Amino acid sequence: MPTSDPRAQGQDALHRVRALLPTAPVTRFAPAPTGWLHLGHLVNAVWVWGIARAVGGRVLLRIEDHDGTRCRPEYVAGVHEDLDWLGLEPDDVVAPQSAREDAYRAGLDRLRSLGLAFGCRCSRREIAALAGDAPDLETPYPGTCRALGLPLGAGLGVRIRVEPGAERFDDLRLGREEQDPAVQCGDLLARDRGGHWTYQYCVVVDDRDQGVDLVIRGVDLLSSTGRQLRLARMLDRPVPPRFLHHPLIRHPGGTKLSKANRDTGLRDLRAAGHAPAALLGQAAALSGLLDRPRPLPAGELASLFTG
Ligand SMILES: [Zn+2]
Repeated sequence: MPTSDPRAQGQDALHRVRALLPTAPVTRFAPAPTGWLHLGHLVNAVWVWGIARAVGGRVLLRIEDHDGTRCRPEYVAGVHEDLDWLGLEPDDVVAPQSAREDAYRAGLDRLRSLGLAFGCRCSRREIAALAGDAPDLETPYPGTCRALGLPLGAGLGVRIRVEPGAERFDDLRLGREEQDPAVQCGDLLARDRGGHWTYQYCVVVDDRDQGVDLVIRGVDLLSSTGRQLRLARMLDRPVPPRFLHHPLIRHPGGTKLSKANRDTGLRDLRAAGHAPAALLGQAAALSGLLDRPRPLPAGELASLFTG
């Protein structure tokens, strides 16, 4: 179980990173440009840069714009501007997802040749309807189109076969975890009926191709880990990345922070006169790495983990 002591939390995480990743890791900061960066992103950045700098690792900046319908160029520019203002410098800026169509197609060709991909004509609504009285829960795909032999062509979704079986992994903060993707989500959607690649599929192909071996992200994505490990092996990555899931910050009411919460937008906070070091310190405190906020320049983030 993770500790609630701020100093120990950072040191425990660093200890596990060092134990399980003997060479300097490659991690990534990977926002979706569907809005401006907010405090939730900043929490993630504090963990990503802090750990990377503490162990001599590298931070890749990856723009996750796989969903072309919701992304906007001004948000991409905003990511670069905000990171620059904060003093958070990536070691490399890798290709955005919108430029990686060929890689996603090649991955799908491989899965198809292995008999692991099939066409799916189900709509999101049809699958959600199966959830009945519990629409908030994730509905596993029931396998409707598995045996229909539908093509992987236009107008149809593409799913990857997910057979039953546990995925076990050591989360670098939470410890031992076990998930069965067949129970959680069933056959994974790689491309939807509109031709858009999905988040789950893109990140696995990207992390493989870009050599990311340490994924540091919020605990809201913990349930995605098993399926991403499974998919990584299908995509010829026998040693998948290690994962660290950090706490999320929440509003007093308990709701998750999102882009809809305008009060936490970095642009608004900056306009209100907050300094970069003050915001980084606030993010560190909100995610349990400091007892209370204090100014923390980007160059000192490693100290949250080295003690
Ligand atoms: Zn289907």
